[in-house]
Amino acid sequence: MLLQARAITKRFGGLLAVDDVSSAIPAGQIKAIIGPNGAGKSTLFNVVSGLYAATSGSLLFEGEEITGLPMHAIARRGIARTFQTTSLFAHLTVLDNAMLGYRRHTASTLVDALLRTPRTRREERESRDAAHDALRFAGIDGLAHRIAGSIPQEAQKRLAIAIAVAAKPKLVLLDEPVAGVTAEETDAHAALIRAMADAGMTICLVEHKMNLVMGLADSIVVLHHGKKIAEGTPAQISADPAVIDAYLGV
Ligand code: ADP
Ligand code: MG
Repeated sequence: MLLQARAITKRFGGLLAVDDVSSAIPAGQIKAIIGPNGAGKSTLFNVVSGLYAATSGSLLFEGEEITGLPMHAIARRGIARTFQTTSLFAHLTVLDNAMLGYRRHTASTLVDALLRTPRTRREERESRDAAHDALRFAGIDGLAHRIAGSIPQEAQKRLAIAIAVAAKPKLVLLDEPVAGVTAEETDAHAALIRAMADAGMTICLVEHKMNLVMGLADSIVVLHHGKKIAEGTPAQISADPAVIDAYLGV
């Protein structure tokens, strides 16, 4: 298993946002997490990516304990994520944003950067190359020199994916990657997510668009009030009465 979550619980005061959730993602799979608003999907991502510490439970990545590691340490292990609301640096160029995605591979210190040491210059080249590769992969290299905040919404969604891809991650967490994009654009994004998997990335995605989830996922976890109420293949999940009751039927 690439990632194993064991009895993850996240409490905000009296609210159990994630309640004793266990699951595992084998390398190479596309796993989807679905559930109504407030079910705890983003919170689970926030725990896995190290933004929040779990209240209890443990996380293993490539068999090693990552529970409680800070976000940058988890990113360095090879876990990248996108956010539900785009978190681009709107005033920087598309290329600069993608270069920031590559950061986990750089070791330059502030002193290196100020002195423009050979290491800094080499890392800048590597980072520019990785960023262009990621932008090409996402189909937006033509926008590299535009200001990120000025490109269309759908291209911003692609950029969020490019930033994650630039990190050359093993696992990518995508939080509602197609929220707010049109039906045709959704198909193009589905193809992009499929291409990420084909390129060797393991994917965990939160999404409300069921046609996308059912078409892409190898396995689906259903959360409801923080609890996992079902897990299985798209066929199993779409036939599960508890899931239809809690989510699909509404
Ligand atoms: P989802 O992504 O499934 O819509 P969330 O994980 O965002 O749900 O939220 C789950 C629950 O946790 C919600 O009730 C939400 O209000 C609460 N929650 C999320 N983040 C915080 C936070 N930082 N502080 C307090 N409550 C939070
Ligand atoms: Mg959410």
